[in-house]
Amino acid sequence: MSEAPSEEARVRRLAERAGYDAASINPILDDGWVAHVGIVRNGRPVVIPMYYVRDGDSLLLHGAPAAGTLREGKGTEVCVSVTLLEGLVLARSAFHHSMNYRSVVVHGTAVPVDDPVEKEAALELFVERMVPGRQAMIRPNTAKEIQGTGVLRVALDNASTKVRSGDPVDDDEDYELPIWAGVVPVTEVLGAPVGDGRSPEGVVVPDNVAALADG
Ligand SMILES: Cc1cc2nc3c(=O)[nH]c(=O)nc-3n(C[C@H](O)[C@H](O)[C@H](O)COP(=O)(O)OP(=O)(O)OC[C@H]3O[C@@H](n4cnc5c(N)ncnc54)[C@H](O)[C@@H]3O)c2cc1C
Repeated sequence: MSEAPSEEARVRRLAERAGYDAASINPILDDGWVAHVGIVRNGRPVVIPMYYVRDGDSLLLHGAPAAGTLREGKGTEVCVSVTLLEGLVLARSAFHHSMNYRSVVVHGTAVPVDDPVEKEAALELFVERMVPGRQAMIRPNTAKEIQGTGVLRVALDNASTKVRSGDPVDDDEDYELPIWAGVVPVTEVLGAPVGDGRSPEGVVVPDNVAALADG
């Protein structure tokens, strides 16, 4: 566990489960798909789920410039969290029920990516994150599409992670009780690709898409 970069990023409870360095942060972000992006709108918090990608030591968000987070989030302070749920932890008492997880909370400023070259490179990352090699297989972006997409960058230098793993932790005297306890693992599964049926005859599922399916 490294040192918290700021007071706002410091995990208080069960601090031994926290991390603050790239080695803790990056693998969680690279395994996740959905970020919950918190902004303050008209004095009230709003938390919006969004697809994201990690670009080195920052995180990228994108969307229609008219979307609330892109419209109001740019240039402002945001809080972004990513959670990977890995297990339901069933204890011998309600109090000790828990969840196994890996999570990241990022505090930062959502800086707009306006430079067209930087923006196009960022947009490629969103496609490549879904399927490595896909950008080269699809129609290139038009200038209008690039202009019509907003991109925000949030640095990862003020972030925290928290990880819980393993069995429930019950009170000593409760282990004598005739109650089953343990963990129900939770996994995310990518299924076999399903075509939309609108490609010309003879177009088959590319190998890199087929390879995504788990198992
Ligand atoms: C799937 C899941 C389920 C959870 N369920 C509960 C629950 O039901 N009740 C509950 O009290 N807690 C739950 N937690 C833990 C919760 O996220 C907080 O860690 C916890 O409430 C203690 O926060 P705190 O007081 O230490 O920090 P806070 O004062 O709440 O936050 C201080 C800073 O610590 C960091 N931080 C806090 N939590 C996390 C985290 N999980 N990951 C990364 N950084 C973090 C952030 O940078 C935050 O700004 C759950 C976590 C996950 C991932």
